[in-house]
Amino acid sequence: MNSLLILPGDGIGPEVMAEVRRIIDWLGAKRGIAFEVSEDLVGGAAYDKYGTPLHDKTMAKAQEVDAVLLGAVGGPKYDQLPFAVKPERGLLRLRKEMDLYANLRPAQCFDALADFSSLKKDVVAGLDIMIVRELTGGVYFGEPRGIFTEGNERVGINTQRYSESEIARVSRSAFELARKRRNKVCSMEKANVMESGVLWREVVQKIRDEEYPDVELSHMYADNGAMQLVRWPKQFDVIVTDNLFGDILSDCAAMLTGSLGMLPSASLGAPMNNGRPKALYEPVHGSAPDIAGQGKANPIACILSFAMALRYSFDMGSEADRLEKAVEKVLADGVRTADLMGPEGGTPVSTAGMGDAILAALDASL
Ligand code: NAD
Repeated sequence: MNSLLILPGDGIGPEVMAEVRRIIDWLGAKRGIAFEVSEDLVGGAAYDKYGTPLHDKTMAKAQEVDAVLLGAVGGPKYDQLPFAVKPERGLLRLRKEMDLYANLRPAQCFDALADFSSLKKDVVAGLDIMIVRELTGGVYFGEPRGIFTEGNERVGINTQRYSESEIARVSRSAFELARKRRNKVCSMEKANVMESGVLWREVVQKIRDEEYPDVELSHMYADNGAMQLVRWPKQFDVIVTDNLFGDILSDCAAMLTGSLGMLPSASLGAPMNNGRPKALYEPVHGSAPDIAGQGKANPIACILSFAMALRYSFDMGSEADRLEKAVEKVLADGVRTADLMGPEGGTPVSTAGMGDAILAALDASL
């Protein structure tokens, strides 16, 4: 049985997740695909009930299931909490204890939304790229780190550190993904000025030559990569890069496509006993307290995150395609939540209204 742990979280998290629940029900009723779904609290909601942003029993459940789907965490109510119990700690604990080392951020531009990009329409229309960011190593974790005194002044120190095995496992994730896409990987680092970049380049090339000779691999310095992403992003298929460069490049790529309400993500770890990777799927956006509880949130980022779960955890690529096509159809038909309203105006649909339209498009696909 396909098992799924749903953690709606805070703010608009429960609102957008409700629309995913309707799609899960639809898959059961219309496609005969059953999920064993459990639901629990994370973030501020978990703090309110359990006094911690992630209860141990929730963490244990997350380790057991095939995939975790998370809404969003945080909100002004929790801003003054001590660091150790802030809502974000719940999310960080999940990522750390599940050892989710590959963060997948697709940047896909639906034709109907091409005008939303700050770039020219022909640069982004039809764009479909995937950034794979190493998530558990590099300069955000390397030791030594800290602010130290040297002579009569202070110095701030962080260390970029990558082992061969850390580079190898994330590059395997990228090559595996490329095989399910257009079979092309571009690896980005700064081998011209950083030894960790020299090693990164060597190891990625070695993994490709020994294990994935069918995948086309190129290398690019990350600063050039940033330029190329805004110059002609369609030259890329899969980009693999470290934690720091990936943080920046994935945000840059995301904005090629317009609204935050459209962006899904996946974080994957090592394969479990059943061969499926440890996996957490979540929209890129936060809990949007400014619109929470008003039925205004766009559920598409969360729905597309579930589509990624179908593809990468449950090996249901054709169902993922069907769901993504339903989203595309609804957008092409001009159905818009408030965040997707262009200057021409119109009447936005509610969160549930967008869910209704996507379910209708799914029905029509049968
Ligand atoms: P945000 O992503 O929550 O919101 C930024 C802006 O985008 C807001 O104007 C919001 O209304 C809009 N927006 C976001 N998602 C939308 C959606 N689905 N539909 C329509 N509009 C949407 O970022 P923020 O305001 O900087 O942070 C709010 C809270 O969320 C903070 O507590 C922050 O710590 C937290 N946060 C959580 C995550 C996460 O759970 N992964 C990520 C980022 C921020």
